[in-house]
Amino acid sequence: MNRMNKGKVAIVTASTEGIGYAIAKRLGNEGAFVVICSRKDTNVRRAVKELRREGITVEGVACHVADAEQRKTLFDTANAKFGGLDILVSNAGVNPGASPVLEAEDATWNKIFEVNVKSSWLLAKEAYPYLVRRGGGSIVFISSIVGYKPVWPIGLYSVSKTTLIGLTKAIANEVARDNIRVNCVAPGVIDTKFASIVRKFMKLTDGSEDLWKEILPQIPMRRLGQPSEIAGVVAFLASNDASFITGETVVAAGGTHAHL
Ligand code: NAP
Repeated sequence: MNRMNKGKVAIVTASTEGIGYAIAKRLGNEGAFVVICSRKDTNVRRAVKELRREGITVEGVACHVADAEQRKTLFDTANAKFGGLDILVSNAGVNPGASPVLEAEDATWNKIFEVNVKSSWLLAKEAYPYLVRRGGGSIVFISSIVGYKPVWPIGLYSVSKTTLIGLTKAIANEVARDNIRVNCVAPGVIDTKFASIVRKFMKLTDGSEDLWKEILPQIPMRRLGQPSEIAGVVAFLASNDASFITGETVVAAGGTHAHL
């Protein structure tokens, strides 16, 4: 394992399993000090234990990313335990429903945009003073391939992920002068619990067809991605090897085409 992020302090949200966990593990194995979080305390304790068993220096906080108090605890923990912050990875994303966009409930829109977009914006806003204090740093958002090409029946989720691509560019322009880089990763279909929930939506909402079956043939590599394959991209973007890259979204989707 290379040590690109050695000695840096990183917060990774939604990181007790799936892509977030793989990112925390990757950064930790590179020698970063990591703060992980998710909503359920039992998940946080389990993940911290597993990562420490690997020799990673990690702290964990129960934090729903939409909860201001809990986000404050996240930053306080990074500051108190590790002395500041260099890297923020905003990874939390939800998809509470599936329907045509024009039939979606207000509550579904609100939940999707609160967690996927507003919380990412607030986390970046709250991380900013810490990164400035360090003389620079890196923010990475996790979007999705569907941010480039909305997929039925998860159109609202897709649009929230498009918004993150714009948010990346807008913030990157503003904070470049502070030596802060802001980038984004757009994963294709990754083998996690989240993907299996989306798979269920694709079967149940229409009833007549299994849209999931159409997905694999659209991936030139003919396989799902693994969380570790997203973690490697995030680690690169967070590191000094990406020192001239900001405002970008890297698609990691097995060759699936990404068109705006
Ligand atoms: P996952 O395997 O379902 O993992 C979800 C993680 O997030 C868990 O640790 C969960 O723990 C935590 N979490 C959920 N809601 C949270 C919240 N509001 N605040 C804090 N933590 C929360 O999901 P994933 O597939 O790794 O997805 C991670 C990100 O990648 C998401 O933004 C997703 O949209 C994006 N993405 C995924 C795929 C894919 O195919 N998997 C593709 C493109 C993009 P608790 O239950 O304890 O909260």
